[in-house]
Amino acid sequence: TFRILHGSRDLALSLVDTVQNLGFIEDTLGVIGQPQTVRDLPGAPRLIAYAGAVSFRDVHFGYGRDSEAIKGLSLEIPAGQKIGIVGPSGAGKSTFVHLLQRLYDVQEGQILIDGQAIETTAQDSLREALAVVPQEITLFHRTIMENIRFGRPDATDEEVFSAARAAHCDGFIRRLGEGYDSLVGERGIKLSGGQRQRIGIARAFLKTAPIIILDEATSALDTEAEMEIQRAVVTVMSNRTVIAVAHRLSTLASFDRIIVINEGRIIEDGSVSELRTKGGMFDRMWRLQAEGLSVDEAV
Ligand code: ATP
Repeated sequence: TFRILHGSRDLALSLVDTVQNLGFIEDTLGVIGQPQTVRDLPGAPRLIAYAGAVSFRDVHFGYGRDSEAIKGLSLEIPAGQKIGIVGPSGAGKSTFVHLLQRLYDVQEGQILIDGQAIETTAQDSLREALAVVPQEITLFHRTIMENIRFGRPDATDEEVFSAARAAHCDGFIRRLGEGYDSLVGERGIKLSGGQRQRIGIARAFLKTAPIIILDEATSALDTEAEMEIQRAVVTVMSNRTVIAVAHRLSTLASFDRIIVINEGRIIEDGSVSELRTKGGMFDRMWRLQAEGLSVDEAV
């Protein structure tokens, strides 16, 4: 009887875990809110992302019938480039990264990764090519070690440590009571927004996908957390393509290129210094933010 009871208790616990982990899994795979309209064609070939080059070719997309959120956007991102996407609220930044994840199919135009149209390749192979660091990192009620390892379940302990070091979270993890064995998540140790983001970056690093999508949190982080995250991103990205939706422009200083999106179109494209010299929307946004004002006033 004990064995049976024990067994059913384990089953109940694992069910609780499963339910708790669902949100986490969705989050990690970047499939939150994924509409059912995106389907693979029978026999869809696998995407082979060997370098991480991204092309948008005259892409049009609208959520409803009335107006388009992306209006004929073309962009070539060479493999390994670090590109920041900025623009006022509602400009189309999230839509842009959602289309790259194929949460929706485009209505016109094409999106390619290493020359292969994502619309015609198998969705699971696209998910393997992308590591997504969402705005809100979900931690599940497991150890820190397991939480990071979710990026790549077969990673060794040494690989987890190395990802954590690259993401600048090894230090604070070792200072927690039980280090990497500390339990986090709902009933575990509470971590700050900056610490959670760095765990998300470590996961993405471990995943070894050629393209990293960073959706920067809008909520204010303290300056130290911001600097740590910036350093983490610089280390992690060395040989990957990084596409970052940025709300804090100061975090873009080390990026190769910035594109400014407004009303579904690219209105500026260049390095931070080029765009600042140009005196357009990016420069206005930069100056507003330096004064602690909202970038939306730059429109
Ligand atoms: P923010 O900085 O505020 O996050 P954003 O630049 O990411 O803004 P998007 O979220 O891409 O902007 O929105 C682009 C346009 O599409 C906006 O007009 C927005 O209202 C609309 N939109 C976004 N998501 C949806 C949706 N799920 N259904 C309908 N319209 C949407």
